[in-house]
Amino acid sequence: MMADTAYEVIIGLEVHVQLQTQSKLFCRCSTRFGAPPNTQTCPVCIGLPGALPVMNEEAFRLALLTAVALECEIPSFTKWDRKNYYYPDLPKGYQISQFDLPMSCHGGLEISDAKGAFPDRRVRILRAHLEEDAGKSMHDEVAGKADSRIDLNRTGTPLLEIVTEPDMRSPQEAKGFLTELKLLLTYLGVSDCNMQEGSLRVDANVNLHVSTPGGVVATPIVEIKNMNSFRAVERALAYEAERQYQVWLETGRKKGDVPKQTRGWDDQAQVTRGQRHKEESSDYRYFPDPDLVPVRVTPAQIEEARQRLGELPAALRSRLQSDYGIDAYSADVLVNQGRLLVQYFEAVAQSTGDGKRASNWMQQDVMRSLNERSMVIGDFPVSAPALAELLSAVQRDEIDNTRAKDVFARMIDDRCSASDAMAALGIAKVDEAQTVELCREILRANPKAVADLKEGKQKAVGALIGQAKQRNANINPGRIKEIFLDLARSEQI
Ligand code: ZN
Ligand code: MN
Repeated sequence: MMADTAYEVIIGLEVHVQLQTQSKLFCRCSTRFGAPPNTQTCPVCIGLPGALPVMNEEAFRLALLTAVALECEIPSFTKWDRKNYYYPDLPKGYQISQFDLPMSCHGGLEISDAKGAFPDRRVRILRAHLEEDAGKSMHDEVAGKADSRIDLNRTGTPLLEIVTEPDMRSPQEAKGFLTELKLLLTYLGVSDCNMQEGSLRVDANVNLHVSTPGGVVATPIVEIKNMNSFRAVERALAYEAERQYQVWLETGRKKGDVPKQTRGWDDQAQVTRGQRHKEESSDYRYFPDPDLVPVRVTPAQIEEARQRLGELPAALRSRLQSDYGIDAYSADVLVNQGRLLVQYFEAVAQSTGDGKRASNWMQQDVMRSLNERSMVIGDFPVSAPALAELLSAVQRDEIDNTRAKDVFARMIDDRCSASDAMAALGIAKVDEAQTVELCREILRANPKAVADLKEGKQKAVGALIGQAKQRNANINPGRIKEIFLDLARSEQI
């Protein structure tokens, strides 16, 4: 297929993130998910005449925190605008949003892939603004009834709309951006980013730059909606790129030849399907909301947000590498699991003084156990000090790595300390003097092996280790190999 080289994919994203506030953006109704329909509404959020909105300070604070983390410019003056359109789940007939003076603009987010699926890149943020959510339409959800129902609980929930420049060049890169953005939002604690509950919604704008003998030609831009997972975003973009290329080959239509189209992703059929034509922004008849005062942002407020940021994922990745001597890939894996898992790792690494060992155990044993149990680190039965105790025993050669895995499994099952688990498994701390004495006995009983060792035939030591392990299962094979070789060399048998 020539398609891989004949065009470049140009992708921009629009992400709506629900901010984690107790109450809605302009009224005191709860934002709790899952309440019975239409039980979290009031005259303000259903738009009764005369009801006046008041801005939720916490929502603005979270938006500001995010904008600062995305390295956006924060203007000192921002205002609210009405975006007018009619839809059954929008009872006011308009959405309160921000049009020409958003609360933040011109930022960026660095993305990279530890496995090199795409080049390192800074994806520029065009703008991030606050707005209220609409309600939810439900079609044919009651058994035996073909009807549509409206739930207005979500109406007025605070959303931060984050719009990128068209800076991504592959579906993998778009997924990489979303993964990094979600991680950042989670570290900031501004959103739970739960896509199933609609806390994070993604629309994508995509077109192609096709190489032709006459130069590069841009195809019409399509907006894709209805993508319910990052995987769906990646697949929808891959499908849409190839579809646009086929349309280009058939029609030769360029950007500007047809109006911008909106297509929905059908996850079952794995195709995009045409929807309505997209409104131009002039169709929304934006105008400043006369019920709300503009917001003034002071340098002190921006500085306060900066102070509150904490250590963000990118900085954390490089610090873990330099503080604990782990590689970029391991740092990436750990950081992507979230702040709590990183804290756990750091506690183990500091206590044992061995970052690499701690990192390997986190990735191989702790994370696998968490996955098997669908558990988060906060609920894990083995505490960081308990794991550190186990790893220290391995470091001191009291037990070998294989036995340590058995002990670890026991610690999870019994929710106990490393020493209790070792006792339960009959693993006694191995006494060095007794081990040396045991090795002497075995060597005395095996003069042929001793002769071989003296001639430098190290193969002979394998059988000796086997015998020693049979006598005492707890001893560390690495340590007894050393003892056998020392004794054979020194002839102190
Ligand atoms: Zn309300
Ligand atoms: Mn929006």
